[in-house]
Amino acid sequence: MSKTLFQKIADSEIPADIVYEDDRALAFRDINPQAPVHILVVPRKPIPRADQIEESDEALIGHLFTVARVVAKQEGLQDYRLVMNNGAGAGQTVFHIHLHMLGGRSMQWPPG
Ligand code: 5GP
Repeated sequence: MSKTLFQKIADSEIPADIVYEDDRALAFRDINPQAPVHILVVPRKPIPRADQIEESDEALIGHLFTVARVVAKQEGLQDYRLVMNNGAGAGQTVFHIHLHMLGGRSMQWPPG
């Protein structure tokens, strides 16, 4: 199977502004930021959609939130939004799961 865009970033085949990396996940700045801080937290494992996360992935998914906490601290963020879009109708465009971390401005709800 061909690599996802985010696997190519993880493998340094496509450049990105990486702000965190470990053996299970990485975080890099979104190319089209929707807030002063917009970072994507991505597992190295290419799970396509949130609804394809399996029970065996539970620790990995928890790890994404740990990475988000570390990155928020690095960025000096106290308040921020974490979002994972599931499916094109929900706004998903890259089918390799990722948490969006958005911060640095006040947020509205509902997001639209
Ligand atoms: P989604 O729409 O799937 O929830 O989020 C995908 C995100 O990936 C979008 O916010 C989009 O701007 C970002 N993105 C798409 N291509 C690239 C890229 O090549 N590099 C980086 N850093 N972000 C990308």
